[in-house]
Amino acid sequence: MREIQIGGLVSFTTIDYPGKLAAVLFLVGCPLRCTYCSNPHLLSPGDGEYDPERIIEWLQERIGKLEAVVFSGGEALMQSDATINYMKRVRDLGFKIGLHTNGFYPEILQRASEYIDWIGLDFKATSDKYPDLTGQNIAYNNMIRSLDIWRATQKPYEVRVTCDPRYVDKDGIMKIANILAEKHVQNIAIQKYVPHFESDDNKTTEAMRNEIFADTQLRNKIDSMFSSVIWREN
Ligand code: SF4
Repeated sequence: MREIQIGGLVSFTTIDYPGKLAAVLFLVGCPLRCTYCSNPHLLSPGDGEYDPERIIEWLQERIGKLEAVVFSGGEALMQSDATINYMKRVRDLGFKIGLHTNGFYPEILQRASEYIDWIGLDFKATSDKYPDLTGQNIAYNNMIRSLDIWRATQKPYEVRVTCDPRYVDKDGIMKIANILAEKHVQNIAIQKYVPHFESDDNKTTEAMRNEIFADTQLRNKIDSMFSSVIWREN
């Protein structure tokens, strides 16, 4: 069996799994090439820097101190059974399992779902903008299928929208909010875009990045559509 490849670790966080003290594992490999990716060093499959057995030993020492382990990336489900088997091992230690995912692998999410307690799912843009943003034509449909699969589990989750103004404007965020409300999604997070790598001919400005967040009427409207809307501005 192929060993899981782990490219990064955050040993303690209070913000990556709702209400739980958690560690985050960053798995290498991602099928998307988002223009704004902040983890380009994790995109290509290759040897992870971290020994998976050492991390299990480290987690054994954290029992009673940490409550959850979040699998992030890259895209953690790209490693398929290696990820699922490792999730089982971590869960058997007593930790809750979280997953940050772009939703590209609905069938793997289905198989992994019995070992996962919570997910944060990226809804990156409306369908017309997805190919330009992610470099993948099927990413939007896969993400919607993942959302529907996870909703059927009735386990908790959050849908995240990062508002890169080149791909999500005011009209776009309302369309996304309507799609999510129609699907009875309860918890969403709307995240301000933070530029990492922008080409000189396609740069965003602070005013562009603020546009959605400065519109109180728009915010109130979206707030009224869900049980919980988190506006992440930094
Ligand atoms: S899905 Fe995430 S890790 Fe993959 S390219 Fe996009 S931003 Fe980067």
